[in-house]
Amino acid sequence: MQYAICKSDNEVWEASRFAQLETSALESKRRNLACTECGEFAWFRKESRHGHPAHFCAHHDPDCELKINYASTDDLANEGTGLEDEVSSGKTIIVRLDQETGGDVEVTTKQHPPREGREEGGKRFVLRGRERQSNQQFTLRRILHRLVKSYEFRESDTQVVFYKNNDEIMLSGPVKDIVTSFDEITREKHHDKTNFYWGPIASVGKTADGKIWLNSTEDYNSASVVVFDDIANIFLQLFNIDDLDDLLGAWVLVAGNCWFSGGGSGKPIIWCGTPNYIFVRKYRDPNLQ
Ligand SMILES: [Zn+2]
Repeated sequence: MQYAICKSDNEVWEASRFAQLETSALESKRRNLACTECGEFAWFRKESRHGHPAHFCAHHDPDCELKINYASTDDLANEGTGLEDEVSSGKTIIVRLDQETGGDVEVTTKQHPPREGREEGGKRFVLRGRERQSNQQFTLRRILHRLVKSYEFRESDTQVVFYKNNDEIMLSGPVKDIVTSFDEITREKHHDKTNFYWGPIASVGKTADGKIWLNSTEDYNSASVVVFDDIANIFLQLFNIDDLDDLLGAWVLVAGNCWFSGGGSGKPIIWCGTPNYIFVRKYRDPNLQ
């Protein structure tokens, strides 16, 4: 879309004019963008190498007028249907982090959740014995998708167990307690706490020391995820990212330690040092444009 409102200056910006802002102003304003109609999270993309002009995108409210005008027609069926959405109530969700294999950040091809005995990414998913009856295995991809799409899931008591490897548990508990949206991070509850955290990416940067910063918006507590330099390249490869800007508008789910900057007075920063503890994904749905 061509226009977005910046909540920090309360101004409606046209994309090509926004693109001309000097770097620091652009960086701070791009973390405060919203749809002019529905007020939902919006982000800015510079003119791309592929020749797309500078533009804004937003995850619109389902009733938003701008969404109707710009609704994309492709790939609508790729996410949010069939098995992908099924969560059997009462069953514990198992996630095996050592089997995470990343995937395209862009939604391009139809993918299926792993099924028992079926190959995905060269790895075999095997459920054994008692688990077969009582548990359901998810990937981070399915967890993130479910979080983005379903308020009920975010707030649910569904038990989830994240395994580091075959028998070592990284984190376990009800979804509502151990998976926290950026906008629900508080200093009291989350400072120096290892959890799963998730939210949208409005700006991306790489610091001189090689760390990748994924920044959300002020509406999301200005939370940032830092991907450590020693795994930065692996992270980019896992999600087939050759231009950091391809991460704009994606959602991130990450396990890491949350630390408020400035000795506790600043914004929350989630530190990620393990490539299979992070998952990023864009969703093309009827509400995106
Ligand atoms: Zn909108």
